[in-house]
Amino acid sequence: MDIRKVGVVGAGTMGSGIAQVFALSGFDVLMRDIKEDFVARGLATIEKSLGRLASRGKITAEAQAAALARIGTTTALDPLADCDLVVEAILEDVELKRALFRELDALCRPEAILATNTSSISVTKIAAATTVPERVVGMHFFNPVPVMKLVEIIRALQTADETCQAIEAVTRAIGKTPHMIKDSFGFVVNRVLILMINEAVNCLYEGLTETEEIDEVMKLGANHPMGPLALADLIGLDVVLNIMETLYSGFDDPKYRPSPLLKQMVDARYLGRKTGRGFYRYDTA
Ligand code: NAD
Repeated sequence: MDIRKVGVVGAGTMGSGIAQVFALSGFDVLMRDIKEDFVARGLATIEKSLGRLASRGKITAEAQAAALARIGTTTALDPLADCDLVVEAILEDVELKRALFRELDALCRPEAILATNTSSISVTKIAAATTVPERVVGMHFFNPVPVMKLVEIIRALQTADETCQAIEAVTRAIGKTPHMIKDSFGFVVNRVLILMINEAVNCLYEGLTETEEIDEVMKLGANHPMGPLALADLIGLDVVLNIMETLYSGFDDPKYRPSPLLKQMVDARYLGRKTGRGFYRYDTA
């Protein structure tokens, strides 16, 4: 399958990064969000990011201008009808995603590939909302998209071999490293990483030691560049809890039980960097 035009649905943190990497690699991109403001914010993020890359000499001024020129925007879904690939990066809500895939299924050509950037939702369940589930696949990028090399390619129960091969090829074409993974709750990175963060929160909850100490021992003892609690603050504690809940309900296994302290922190809106307070305090001024 020849992929030339890529639709990106959702112009937030991930969608804008995904649109940027495709455009920089020469693909025509159409980025869609539900409001003009959101589309404009996504485009501004891309402009800033490309400007940074150009000022550091990582891309030429011509490449910067050409990438921007390749990105169209829309608040409607219909213009995505002629895309060869659509990558969905909307909110992490299974019913929202299934509804969107139903619409894309009706709109796009049957051979177009529909990919989801979900962090933890069953790709099999999203695929089941469509009439051609063989062309649905997970394309799990990491934040920040322009920097992070990995894309977990999630093969749903229904995904066809040709879909996986096409996505593997397009992932390499945008300079990323694909790894094929069978659909399962949390895939690999989040299943391992988020469970580790949850255990770090439990160590704090059980009073084993203090926040800074937990982060320091993991840096010194496991050679991690950042401690798990500082990382949780960066990811967002609500996001961490959401993924733990998906693992817990998906596997129905108590080993994935979210830490009570994690739940309390989210109840208190201590969500990490984005609210100025998580396991650490941040200057929001
Ligand atoms: P975000 O909140 O920054 O952006 C989501 C965007 O989707 C918003 O701008 C919202 O207006 C838009 N949106 C909602 N419904 C829409 C619809 N029907 N059509 C078009 N746009 C719609 O969220 P994000 O952090 O970019 O996450 C997006 C997805 O990527 C989620 O599934 C998330 O789990 C996944 N993800 C996030 C990260 C991360 O670190 N942020 C990493 C990997 C995967």
